[in-house]
Amino acid sequence: MSNKADYIGRFAPSPSGPLHFGSLVAALASYLDARSAQGLWLLRMEDLDPAREPPEASVQILSTLEAFGLHWDGPVLYQSQRLGAYADALANLQERGLIYSCDCSRVQIQAMGGVYDNRCRLRQLQQTAGALRIVVPDEIFEFVDTIQGPQQQNLLRECGDFVLRRKDGLFAYQLAVVVDDAFQNITHIVRGSDLLDSTPRQLYLQKLLGFPSLHYAHIPVAVNNEGQKLSKQHFAAPLDLQQPTTQLLAALQFLGQFSGRHPDPHLATASPTELLVWGAAHWDIQAVPKLATIPLQSGS
Ligand code: GLU
Repeated sequence: MSNKADYIGRFAPSPSGPLHFGSLVAALASYLDARSAQGLWLLRMEDLDPAREPPEASVQILSTLEAFGLHWDGPVLYQSQRLGAYADALANLQERGLIYSCDCSRVQIQAMGGVYDNRCRLRQLQQTAGALRIVVPDEIFEFVDTIQGPQQQNLLRECGDFVLRRKDGLFAYQLAVVVDDAFQNITHIVRGSDLLDSTPRQLYLQKLLGFPSLHYAHIPVAVNNEGQKLSKQHFAAPLDLQQPTTQLLAALQFLGQFSGRHPDPHLATASPTELLVWGAAHWDIQAVPKLATIPLQSGS
């Protein structure tokens, strides 16, 4: 893509099911941040894992975004169409000796407590089998998140060598997201705080692949009473296409956009488009709660 603008944002749902309130909040925050900066807002379908994606989910997501007035710029990018680009990026890293194969089982990895101990680094297994991991340096990656403030992570000590191609042959999210953010000339990422600790891995890959670094803002994630992220696995209710205004108002509230001001009473009866125009005109990213999660009242 040759489009260069000062601000290019994106929403990148994984089509594992219909959008729910948590996904609406992420879509809305990235949309308003882009529109308030007169930027572009692109849509990327992260459909890398067909076994977890009901065939109708992508189309359903597109029509839900339309019903909520969240119109994206340009064509939708489908990650399922981009496998060649991921293979090229992986080959580049392989040629530089940064990739190795790992046949550790899920149980072995779980026993390491969240930081891979790099035990397969020196085993020199055939790169045709197993998962492919990238060697990480003993180095701190730092960035300043627009909402959550300064962040840092030592990739070796806090993460370990991470997977770029899974054992089943599928490309990993970390690789695909970095390749596509660069391909789409993304400048600003606004997404859920569950991805905050993925960001240093993405900064590392951007650096290796010669891609520009980006601005990041991680919004709180909506959780249920048990503290679990709303998701299909946790039976989050799909968005109600008949009630876009009510749910957009709830999402604006969740994002702190009414704090310190009386919401205009007309907003309750506004159309989604009117609400989004209001939201972009009043968007204040610093009003977004600087929290990792916010519990939703049951029923909302
Ligand atoms: N596809 C990811 C998700 O649905 C989001 C990826 C991103 O925003 O970087 O959680």
